[in-house]
Formats: sequence, structure tokens, C-alpha cells
Amino acid sequence: MEKDFDLVVIGSGPGGYVAAIRASQLGYKTAIVEKYNVLGGTCTNVGCIPSKALLDSSENYYAILHKGPKQGILADNVRIDFEKFIARSKDVVKQNNEGLNFLMKKNKIQVFTGAGSFIDNSKIVIRKDQEEDKTISAKYFIIATGSKPASIPGVDIDKDRIITSTEALSLKTQPATMVIIGGGVIGVEMASVYSRTGTKVTIIEYTDSLIPTMDRELGKELLKVLSKQGIEILLSSKVQSAKNQGNSALVTYLDTAGKEQQVTADYCLVAVGRKPYTTGLGLENTKVKLDDKGRVVVNDQLRTEEPNIYALGDVIRGPMLAHKAEDEGVAIAETINGHPHTINYLRIPSVVYTWPEVAGSGYTEEQLKEAGIVYNKGKFPFLASGRARASDDMDGFVKVLTDPKYGEVLGVHIIGARAADLIAQGVIAMECEITDSELGKISYAHPTFSEVLKDAYLITSGRGAINI
Ligand code: FAD
Ligand code: NAD
Repeated sequence: MEKDFDLVVIGSGPGGYVAAIRASQLGYKTAIVEKYNVLGGTCTNVGCIPSKALLDSSENYYAILHKGPKQGILADNVRIDFEKFIARSKDVVKQNNEGLNFLMKKNKIQVFTGAGSFIDNSKIVIRKDQEEDKTISAKYFIIATGSKPASIPGVDIDKDRIITSTEALSLKTQPATMVIIGGGVIGVEMASVYSRTGTKVTIIEYTDSLIPTMDRELGKELLKVLSKQGIEILLSSKVQSAKNQGNSALVTYLDTAGKEQQVTADYCLVAVGRKPYTTGLGLENTKVKLDDKGRVVVNDQLRTEEPNIYALGDVIRGPMLAHKAEDEGVAIAETINGHPHTINYLRIPSVVYTWPEVAGSGYTEEQLKEAGIVYNKGKFPFLASGRARASDDMDGFVKVLTDPKYGEVLGVHIIGARAADLIAQGVIAMECEITDSELGKISYAHPTFSEVLKDAYLITSGRGAINI
């Protein structure tokens, strides 16, 4: 029987919309189904984009206050117009939503608004309040339904005083105090936004390190920098409960000695990870399986147990990152087109947009040690960079880990100014197998932050750093 579409993508986050665009470019009749009225998913609407807008605005404010006087820039009465601060981030989101509408039209992708639910492996029903259900059929489907914030026992997110990143991106007034449960990526990014603009922020982290999934030296340095910026950070502390007290939140935790402590704040932001979202998808009407963490099970080609249904992004295994979802979207469209390619998950860069930024790709030092892999280590501080001194960005370092025999780059880890952009060079070096000695020989513009990487490669390749 003739199908309505070649491919239907359920969910319009970065994984879903990129998959739809690539499929359409390859000549497939494609539709995308999104339950909200705007396209873009978590990343565009309540994730990457608004958080980066607030991080940039708060960074500008902080720089005027704290770097300005040292540089002879004197400004009186500098303050935050909180309503405008939030409104501007929403405007940036709107521009991105409009960009996506344009891309869907340009690529002739049909957009359905409503929640998609499988009837069987070739049909879904789309439901939207006060509208008649629509049923559409397709040869292939991609599940791209993303994730939702997770919580911990004793902490009920009420979106009033006990909030998630979604509410924290849209507060009406600047809080005087905020407690953040979790010192992972959301924890340190939102702590930066609020602390820079004047909120007294306390982070309570369960493990003994901030951003514990990254190379541990990065977390140590970030702890120093954020503490210096005035954020109170409690490591090895376990939250027991968070209660809404009307005008404030009361958080109870066990400190490093196992003693019960309490802290009150205007808001408690819960940032303890996110969980895959498959509610209402009708997976029981298909052979698609979930694992013990509720993630859709896929094989190396991102195919589920139903050969014509694929899945990607936050709803499957792997890091919950927008670019990971995007790469998977392209991989699925090309696999359907008969050109499968695999993704090297180890090299997907992780970036944290604090200031200084943090970024890593490849093996961490802990992973190399654990696997018994011998490595050379080249560590170089931003303090020794002329560019960093010129912009008063001397915190941090780069660390490159390379194979002693062939000089292959095994891992690149950076905490420092523009780490988010610098990491691309490390990813290219690893993907293209460029050696540390080659990386130490090529020309780097002076003065740039990238020169810090050159010195690190000079160290691992045995030639010795020039600038230290
Ligand atoms: P999502 O973006 O979650 O999109 C899924 C979409 O599916 C949603 O729009 C949802 O409404 C829709 N949907 C769900 N069920 C149905 C259904 N049944 N029918 C129709 N539609 C449905 N990552 C980065 O790489 N860089 C960052 O800087 C970054 N910052 C972040 C900041 C915050 C505060 C948060 C919360 C996340 C951030 N992330 C960042 C993570 C990033 O947002 C996610 O990894 C990414 O959005 C995952 O993309 P996705 O396509 O898998 O799903
Ligand atoms: P995360 O996994 O990065 O961090 C969660 C933190 O909470 C961990 O450090 C964990 O040890 C801690 N934690 C867990 N239970 C705790 C408890 N009981 N008490 C105290 N601490 C506890 O998760 P997140 O920060 O919520 O972010 C969710 C996802 O969103 C991440 O996977 C991340 O990749 C993605 N994200 C990415 C970016 C980015 O790329 N810049 C930004 C924001 C979010």
C-alpha cells in the first residue's frame, strides 16, 4: 500500500529537524511531528540557546563590573534590568524558531503539530487538543522525542520554588539566593548566570568534583575559578530533601562528615540529570524496546528492534548533547539512503559555557590510566599566553594526551578562554590522525588563544614549549 511519507520524524529538537532536513535533501518525502507549537525542542526553546544568551549577557555585565576598572573603563550605576535580560533571551529563541520554520519550508518538510503515537510500525496518530486526530503512514520513522529533567528521592519539582532549568531560564525577578542541586553542566552554567548578576548561589554536589564526567583536572580548576567568582560549592554532599516553604525553599543535605545540614534560598534549582522521554509514544504497539534506564534500544546503525524505526539523541544511549543528536540525525538519513556511517562517540566534544569555558574530547586522563594505556601529557597554562594577558583571561590550562610512540592525539582537555571553539582543533587532530609533532610544527596566528595548544603539543612531542 502507498504510504503518505517516506519518512516521519517524531520530535523537532536538533536531532529531529536535522534528520528531516538531510532526508529531504536526499529526496525523501519527509514530515516532522512536534507536540509543541514551536519547533526546536529542548535545545532551541529551553536549553542550549536561551542558556547561552543569558550566559553571554551575564558575562558582559560581569566583565564591565570586574574587568572594567582594571582596564580603565569606569561605568557608574551599572545594573541589571532583569525583565529585559530574560526578554532578550526569549527574543533570541524566537529568531531561532523562525529560522527553523524557514528551513522546513525551504526543504519542503511537512510539519504536523500534535503528539505522535504509534498505531503500529507503519502508522502514527497525531493528537492535538480540540482538533480531530490525524493518522499518517510512512515507510520509515525516527523517534527523536528527547528528554525531561530528572529528580532525586525527597525532591518534588513543583516548578514554583523547587524548579528545573526550564523555570530558571524564565524567572520574573532576580532571586536574592539560589541553591542548586547538582554540580554538573546545568548546575555550573546556571550558577554562573545567577551569581554574576548578583544572586548568592550555593551548589550542592554529590560527588567530590564539579562536572565529574569530564577529565578531573578540569573540575578541580573550575572549582577554584567559580569559588573565586563568589559561588559557594559544597562537594561530597548528599541532598536528602527540598521543601517549598511558600516564599522560599528549604534544602536538607548530609555534609562531607555525614552530618545533616539545612540551607534556605528563594529557589532550589534541581540539576541532577535528565531522563529519556517516551511517554504516550505508543511503543507498546511496536517491537521497539526500552532499556533499564528507559532509553530506546538501538543498534550501531541507530535502528530499533523494528527495522524501519530508528531513534536518536537524548532518548537513546550516549551523551545528551545537541550536536550528538544532530550527527545521529544525519547518520540515520544517510543509512536509509544506503550510505551508513558510524559516529565516534569518544570524540564528540563536551563543552561547558562557564567563563572560562571548559571543553574536552577523546580519552580523559582517568580513562587512560584505568585502561593501562601509556601516554604523554602536555599541560600549558593560559597565564603564559600573551593573548590571554591582553584580554585579562589568564585562568585555566590546556592538557593534551598523546601516544608516546606515534604521537597520535588521545585526548584534549581545555579550561580557558574560548575553549568551546578551541576544542574543534583537537577533534580534527584526532579524527584525521594528525600527530603531536605535526601539530607543533604548523603555524598558529599570534597572538591567539590557539597558541596555548601549540605549546602543549611541543611538550608531548619532546621538543619543549617555547613560551614557558
Ligand atoms: P529534544 O531537543 O529534547 O527535542 C525533542 C522534541 O520532541 C521536543 O520538542 C518534544 O516536545 C518533542 N516530542 C516528545 N514527544 C513527542 C511526541 N510524542 N510527539 C511529538 N513530539 C514529541 N546541549 C549542547 O550540546 N550544548 C548546550 O549548550 C546545551 N545546553 C543545554 C542547556 C540546558 C538548560 C538543557 C536542559 C540542555 C542543554 N543541552 C545542550 C542538551 C540539549 O538540549 C539536548 O541534548 C538536545 O536538545 C537533544 O536533542 P533531541 O533532538 O534528542 O531532543
Ligand atoms: P549532569 O549529569 O551533567 O549533572 C548532574 C550532577 O548532579 C552530577 O554532577 C551528579 O553527581 C549530581 N547529582 C546527582 N544526584 C545528586 C544528589 N542527590 N545530590 C547532589 N548532586 C547530585 O546533568 P545536568 O547538569 O542536569 O544536565 C543534563 C544534561 O543536559 C547533561 O547530560 C548535559 O550533557 C546536558 N547539558 C549540556 C550542556 C552543554 O553542553 N553545555 C548544558 C546544559 C545541559
